[in-house]
Amino acid sequence: MSSNSPRSGAIVGGGAAAPHTDLVQDAQIKRAIKEFGLEGRRLYLPQMPYGGSYLLAAAIRSIGFDAWPTSDSDERTLDLGGRVTSGDECYPQKITIGDFLRIIEDEGRDNVAFLMPTANGPCRFGQYLHLVKAKFDELGYSDVPIVSITSSDGYSSIGSYSSDLIRTAWRAVLAQDILMKVLLKTRPYEKDKGAADAAYQASLEEIGAAVSLNDVSDRERLAAVVPAMVRARDRFRAVPADYDRSRPLIGVVGEIFCRQNTFSNFDLIRVVEEQGGECWLADIGEWVWYTDDEQRRRLIDQGRRISRDNAYRFMKGKVMRRDEHAMYGPFADDFVGYEEPADVRDVLEMSFPYLPYTGALGEMVLSSGKAIYLHGKGADGIIDISPFTCMNGIVTEAVYPSLQKDLDNMPIRTFYFDGTQGDLERDVGIFIELARTYQRRKKKPRRFPAYFSL
Ligand code: SF4
Repeated sequence: MSSNSPRSGAIVGGGAAAPHTDLVQDAQIKRAIKEFGLEGRRLYLPQMPYGGSYLLAAAIRSIGFDAWPTSDSDERTLDLGGRVTSGDECYPQKITIGDFLRIIEDEGRDNVAFLMPTANGPCRFGQYLHLVKAKFDELGYSDVPIVSITSSDGYSSIGSYSSDLIRTAWRAVLAQDILMKVLLKTRPYEKDKGAADAAYQASLEEIGAAVSLNDVSDRERLAAVVPAMVRARDRFRAVPADYDRSRPLIGVVGEIFCRQNTFSNFDLIRVVEEQGGECWLADIGEWVWYTDDEQRRRLIDQGRRISRDNAYRFMKGKVMRRDEHAMYGPFADDFVGYEEPADVRDVLEMSFPYLPYTGALGEMVLSSGKAIYLHGKGADGIIDISPFTCMNGIVTEAVYPSLQKDLDNMPIRTFYFDGTQGDLERDVGIFIELARTYQRRKKKPRRFPAYFSL
């Protein structure tokens, strides 16, 4: 592996070809599969991160679709992605399309399909789907389905399964966030290298099996998922570890794909750990709550505070909160000092003086607000991971100096990625030294769980 290319094989549990799956497919699902053009095809999801896509794919399997995450990205990803992009596109676009083309080459165009989320956002993300479709057409792959499950298309075609899928997918997001959180707070302190990763992988597989159960009710699924989460907690508690308070705590924010996809960011979190830090990564659930809040504000702006849509949104939020409590509950002792904000609006209000959420949209408001929140939790530094030329990254980088001034000069640094990193170890090492200096003089103390030595 060249030191100038993203790390491959560094992702926990990634890489393996997806196994054969026996799925229960009733008439309605068979109809939906036909409508999507997915008969005899496996649906692949981009890694964001690997574990998150693994669990989201499990959620999609729960209704009878054959879905798995893409295998690990490698040099071919960049090569194939580079052949169909000009360099003006966002880096996540290059990785995503490169992986799709790699999988078509490996598995055959007749056997695969891809999930490509889309949104009407303030940046180029809304263009990803169009560009993938255009490039597939140019390459003669127009018969390879690209599914974009959004409330405006996919959900309606799977009829009564849509609400089941939304709820199961939310549980998959929660499970991913919790597993990632417990991994990142354990791995830097493990005594046996690889033990925390092994606990993560075993937990992912067990929880994935519970999430993907076919033909069970919401209640029955939760009754399978929560005990699997408890066993995951116990697996991590059993990892031999030496918890000491001197490691700087580094908050990690930034563009959602690049901060979660370890290939595109050269597995930066692992580099921080190797250089002596511990990371707190901004979660995916935060983004889900953010989009919910966006919808709430949009409805109010349209004079539809009292409307069916807002009532549905409100009730959906209640159910999501209930699942959140059920799944985070067993980790209450483990997450002392690692509590997430009670409401995404807290984060938005924190960023308001710098980037008002009424005018600025997307990761930029979340990244700046979360940096302030993490400062309050006793973090010793903030790293923003962004693709090179990312509109969100550029805006936050412009805002960070004033934010930093107001946060006792806590170190904040943006790391940009485009697949051609220089000396990341050196740059991270310098940042960790700054964080250590700040740690000695910081005013906001960190709260530690009981298992940390004094
Ligand atoms: S957030 Fe940045 S990298 Fe992602 S689509 Fe928008 S501009 Fe591109």
